[in-house]
Amino acid sequence: MSLRELAKRRLPYPAKQGLKYIYSAIPARFRYGKVFWDTYNFLQESQWWSRKKLEEYQMQQLSRLLRHAYENVPYYRRVFDERGLKPNVIQDFNDLRKLPYLTKGIIRENLRDLVARNYPRSKLEYVTTGGSTGIPLGFYWKRDVTDLKEWAFVITLWSRVGFELGNRCVVLRGNVVRSVNKGKFWEYDPLKKDLIISSYHMTDELLPNYIVKIREFRPDFIQAYPSAITILARFMKDNDIKPFPTVKAVLCTSENLYSWQRELLEEVMKCRVWSFYGHAERAALAGECEVSTYYHIQPEYGIVELINKDGNPLTNEDELGEIVATGFNNSAMPFIRYRTMDLAVPANSRCSCGRNYSLMKRIEGRVQELIMSKDGRLIPHVSWIHEAAWKGIKQIQFVQQKQGEIIFQVVKNTSKSERQIERHILRLYGPKFEGLCEVSLRFVDYIPCTKSGKFRFLVQKLPIDWGGCQK
Ligand SMILES: [Zn+2]
Repeated sequence: MSLRELAKRRLPYPAKQGLKYIYSAIPARFRYGKVFWDTYNFLQESQWWSRKKLEEYQMQQLSRLLRHAYENVPYYRRVFDERGLKPNVIQDFNDLRKLPYLTKGIIRENLRDLVARNYPRSKLEYVTTGGSTGIPLGFYWKRDVTDLKEWAFVITLWSRVGFELGNRCVVLRGNVVRSVNKGKFWEYDPLKKDLIISSYHMTDELLPNYIVKIREFRPDFIQAYPSAITILARFMKDNDIKPFPTVKAVLCTSENLYSWQRELLEEVMKCRVWSFYGHAERAALAGECEVSTYYHIQPEYGIVELINKDGNPLTNEDELGEIVATGFNNSAMPFIRYRTMDLAVPANSRCSCGRNYSLMKRIEGRVQELIMSKDGRLIPHVSWIHEAAWKGIKQIQFVQQKQGEIIFQVVKNTSKSERQIERHILRLYGPKFEGLCEVSLRFVDYIPCTKSGKFRFLVQKLPIDWGGCQK
């Protein structure tokens, strides 16, 4: 097979370590295949398009998607027919509102009818997501296509802070490392040049080994769940450990990056801390850029709407809204006006980087991460934990079991007494929760991370509804 032919296909990802070493000799440009490179090359140009050209592109993609959904997806045919609509009545973005929202509940009830009839079953891949802070969801995407496109988008985003294919990365993303039983907490992937580190063994006893290993590895970047790298950073700060000199940026993924985490990571790692918003459903993507920490909504990926609790578009810049997404990259199971149950705050400005993308100031996390006050108001907790809270504390977690009540679960450092810590926390948080929630403290020995290796700062046991999104 010629290299040109090879380039049109994607090489299977080998499971055996030995094979990975052999494959790693093949240059990256031949390893990822046509879908990846077509998407990647397109994005290199489109990111600098004018607003008008981007909107024309989106409209074109939307029309194509709606026609396809009407012709090939039984659920959407029904939705159009019930409303007496045809795809061509959607002439601009406002017309999209003629179509109903797609909720996780609707997806669960209509899973089969949401799959495009003209897409071969053998090329579908079933994906499941959620559970810890959201509603578990199962859906389909195109095997070997949806994921490769995603990778091309992500690489494009990371390149804003200097990432190139073939760079060396330390990966701290909830991976289970197979060699743990042999006393080794990391694994090397020669194909991606990744040093994959276990998120499950970051104890004070073992973290010094992690740090030595990372230093030896000389990574260009660290890819991490914010909650996992925060544990490492806090340990480095407490023990006056110097940053890793080769690291150009910490690339945060899969979790919301809180502002106190960014401050801590920048202080300890002495490099750019970069984040993006994405989800397994592959309907919306937004990343920071070279010069800003605002999330730039990727228009080539899909259409993002932000809606308030009544289901209407946001009108004010600083209003909190749910992200509603229409994705262009999975025609096998189109998500049109999908309610993500993720919350964000929009910005009306344009960024000085030169991209004509719409912006979000910050992501506020999931609907299920809101706190419910005594009078039923929903409050984001994102900005409430900050660096000062950590004095004498190893771990902290908010738990809400009853409306208007918050329990702080605290793992203390040995140096402070429980009484001292309780006074400190109540002084810090008492005024913030005043009139909203009763606050109490519970000392525990250990707070485990979730099955996926993430750490949750809020465990919300009440079902939180944001304008019917749970239906
Ligand atoms: Zn920018």
